[in-house]
Amino acid sequence: MTTLQDLRPSNKPTTMSLLIDLGFDTSDWGNYSRGPRWAAANPKYCYEWGYEIPGEMAVLNLWVQNTDIRGDIVSQSNNFRADAAFWQANSRAADWGKRAERLDRIVSRAARQQLPVRVIFLDGEMRASRDPNASASKPKRRGLDPEVWRIASYDFATGQHTVVRGDAKGEYLDQFDLPPNSGPPEKYENTVYAFKRDRAVRMRALELADGACRKCGAPGFKMPNGRRYLETHHIIPLSEGGPDDITNVIAICPNDHKEAHFGANSLQMRDELLNIINNDRMD
Ligand SMILES: [Zn+2]
Repeated sequence: MTTLQDLRPSNKPTTMSLLIDLGFDTSDWGNYSRGPRWAAANPKYCYEWGYEIPGEMAVLNLWVQNTDIRGDIVSQSNNFRADAAFWQANSRAADWGKRAERLDRIVSRAARQQLPVRVIFLDGEMRASRDPNASASKPKRRGLDPEVWRIASYDFATGQHTVVRGDAKGEYLDQFDLPPNSGPPEKYENTVYAFKRDRAVRMRALELADGACRKCGAPGFKMPNGRRYLETHHIIPLSEGGPDDITNVIAICPNDHKEAHFGANSLQMRDELLNIINNDRMD
């Protein structure tokens, strides 16, 4: 499992050199009164909090200590638009407001276009957020995270969003792969649930469903990242000794999932769902 320590950068390359590694054209950085030798310190660019190659990639500077790690899911939830509004209301920090606003636009475009996101992690003294008297942050180390990230959710009304580390794995996802803070409250029950579920089994059940509920046939809804959402369900509960394998796991819509657990017909539904799965194996 990934730990915060694994994510911490260990030295301090310039942002410009990291962008060059990512294929950015930084030739304009050298148009600087101190001369091209000082390109990496060009204040027009080097203090920005995000960068983009339009239509291709977004790069975000994120503080490593803001990272949320839950099981397999490494993510950050931020709201740069709200940060921008806060800083812009404070004249001393108007520059921070503009940077936050530009960063929000980069994130919203990346969400709309489903662009891959790369993260430059910063480590060191982070400015106390929302403290108008705080001095500027002082990153001591910086580094490009080797993984590609993606915007898992972005609220276009407010700017609240979650970025998740790692490529979307396949086309489908279930309740266990929802990013934190964007899912239904069940997410929290599930993360403290005592039984460990095999991810490969859940993914296989999702593949078999091919994006549509195995019980009623309704298509799972689409997430902002384009993946189709269904829930995976253990027909015989793990707590009753049901196996955590493909003979007992089925992907169904959230409505049928709730009914399977709480409906008056839940025992009949068990038989019905087991029949569906048994037919898979006879095909
Ligand atoms: Zn259904």
